[in-house]
Amino acid sequence: MSNTTADNKGKLIVISAPSGTGKSTIINRIIGDEALRLEFSVSATTRSPREGEKNGIDYYFLTEDEFRSHIQADDFAEYQEVYQGRFYGTLKSEIERINNMGHNVILDIDVMGSINVKRMYGDHALTIFIAPPSVETLRQRLLNRGTDSIEEINRRVSKAEFEMQQAGTSDCVVVNDDLEVAVSEVRGLIASFVNSADENV
Ligand code: 5GP
Repeated sequence: MSNTTADNKGKLIVISAPSGTGKSTIINRIIGDEALRLEFSVSATTRSPREGEKNGIDYYFLTEDEFRSHIQADDFAEYQEVYQGRFYGTLKSEIERINNMGHNVILDIDVMGSINVKRMYGDHALTIFIAPPSVETLRQRLLNRGTDSIEEINRRVSKAEFEMQQAGTSDCVVVNDDLEVAVSEVRGLIASFVNSADENV
């Protein structure tokens, strides 16, 4: 994690959730809501693209050397080795790009990244943790998704157990038991935050 402080402060909404919790579905349902003026922050990662993922849209897919060069150049607002040997990070340029458009930034990052963004941006950031109803439901969803090997699923489930213990560090926790309810709760939380008086910005 870099020690950079926030230079250009805008409203940030951080969504964290264990893999397979339905986080992407929830974000995709909300991002088009024009009243919220949300723009997705595309992270950089050293993991390989999954089928259908596009460079610059889903992630900036980098080699480990490229990622390390960005660390050296202090280009990241935050970064984490989310899984062993797999780096993920939020580029400062991404946050600046979205701020300059006058939009609110939505970040899909892990819990440690969320804690770091909260530390940097304070009241300018809202952190939301989306929890699965249980670890077992999560394992089942990852199996049904069929995009990851059993080893990868086991890795993601162990990480989920850890992340669920950290859920309390977020500003709000939403349990995704019923997708429609979860979408509505998350939309409501974001709407009150972005529409709250701009004295925070
Ligand atoms: P996936 O490989 O399933 O796309 O993402 C794995 C995890 O990395 C997810 O929990 C996701 O939120 C997290 N992640 C994605 N981008 C970033 C980032 O820029 N920073 C941090 N800290 N975590 C990220």
